[in-house]
Amino acid sequence: MKISVVGTGYVGLVTGACFAETGLTVTCVDTNSDKIEKLKSGIIPIYEPGLDVLVAKNCEMGRLFFTTSLVESLKNAEALFIAVGTPPGEDGSADLKYVLDVAAEIGKNMQGYLVVINKSTVPIGTAQKVREVIISEQRKRGVNIPFDVASNPEFLKEGAAIEDFLKPERIVIGTDSEEAEKLMRKLYKPFLLNGHPIIFMDIPSAELTKYAANAMLATRISFMNEMANLCEIVGADVNMVRKGIGSDSRIGNKFIYPGVGYGGSCFPKDVKALIKSASEKGYSLKVIEAVEKVNDAQKELMFKKISEYFKGHLNGKKFAIWGLSFKPNTDDMREAPSIVIINKLLAAGAMVKAYDPAAMDETKKVLGSRVEYAADPYSAVDDCDALVLVTEWREFRVLNFNELNKRMKAKVIFDGRNIYEPEEMKEEGFSYVSIGRKSIGLK
Ligand code: NAD
Repeated sequence: MKISVVGTGYVGLVTGACFAETGLTVTCVDTNSDKIEKLKSGIIPIYEPGLDVLVAKNCEMGRLFFTTSLVESLKNAEALFIAVGTPPGEDGSADLKYVLDVAAEIGKNMQGYLVVINKSTVPIGTAQKVREVIISEQRKRGVNIPFDVASNPEFLKEGAAIEDFLKPERIVIGTDSEEAEKLMRKLYKPFLLNGHPIIFMDIPSAELTKYAANAMLATRISFMNEMANLCEIVGADVNMVRKGIGSDSRIGNKFIYPGVGYGGSCFPKDVKALIKSASEKGYSLKVIEAVEKVNDAQKELMFKKISEYFKGHLNGKKFAIWGLSFKPNTDDMREAPSIVIINKLLAAGAMVKAYDPAAMDETKKVLGSRVEYAADPYSAVDDCDALVLVTEWREFRVLNFNELNKRMKAKVIFDGRNIYEPEEMKEEGFSYVSIGRKSIGLK
């Protein structure tokens, strides 16, 4: 069977490689010719653990192809996945331009029955819009070729995308066509041998499921951040509270870690888009609106803590930043809290030397030469007034205090992810400020 995947980013490339892994012939399409050239010559344009091996293997087996031509990918394809970006528009709603561009291309070029599957995160009603654009383009050609549109939201996590795709906890499909349902069952059967469900539903429910999932996860994070802030006021320790509630099986221990606010390519834009699509229908999502507000404030919290510690005197101070990507195991810098913290430090006249295991190139695109880049974590702390841990990559977990003592100008650590222990910091003679826990050595 032959399929086409349009949009070769974090979702499209993983989708294409994983379907190829099951034996399908997959053509990945992208309008970004630079990306396609890189992929053709074996270079993976994003950082995603395991993806290089999977792509190389399936290219070598002659099952995975890359092209800038959607027309070429349509030849004999039975299904086409749309996996292009849906960035926030100016008013917060999802910008459907890229999705509808793909729909137009399909309508202009399709030759036989095709199932068009929307994998991009899109608001309710998008499948219908895609259908209308395809029909309209077919009419211009004077043809009436049958097709179906299905919704298949993606739940993979960057950093664990391959594992999530190959062993999904569930597959959600919105469809109103038996033929499309049959094809989707066939496509996903190899991934569901572990017994996890494929859930069929109507298209609007599938479209909303993705937003509801992300909004729920974002809610847990903002909830915990509020608890952390309250802990600081009342003298409680949020780590204890987290363990206390997380052991309740109704709550569970995932997504209840306080920190510097959520970022990334999904939560911020999906929360915004959900609020917007509800308000367009005259409904205000009060909980979700609060989730966003809390997160915006949380992204500024670490800077406030730093400024408070230095009593507002940040001009000329030097800060080492560990971790730049919005979360570990990805190079994705979209909406990363590190950008907010660094921009605020720079605006206050401070200097920043940053290190990230994977996201340095992406950071350079965002912050350019306003920041100094370190080759390794410990050269970032040379002569700094404080170390700020923003993203909890595994390699930061155990501190080399000898190196820190030798290199740092002042022994001060701000921990945006609560990965260090206040007691240890005290023993080592460090001032230590974290989230929702007692600070050590605060002047
Ligand atoms: P991305 O920005 O990494 O990739 C999108 C790709 O689409 C880009 O390479 C772009 O060049 C390409 N593109 C744009 N218009 C095109 C066109 N007309 N034809 C061909 N290619 C085109 O985006 P992503 O992170 O992979 O996200 C894609 C969608 O999946 C979004 O809707 C996102 O919300 C959703 N999603 C993302 C994740 C994630 O973790 N990144 C998880 C689940 C769902």
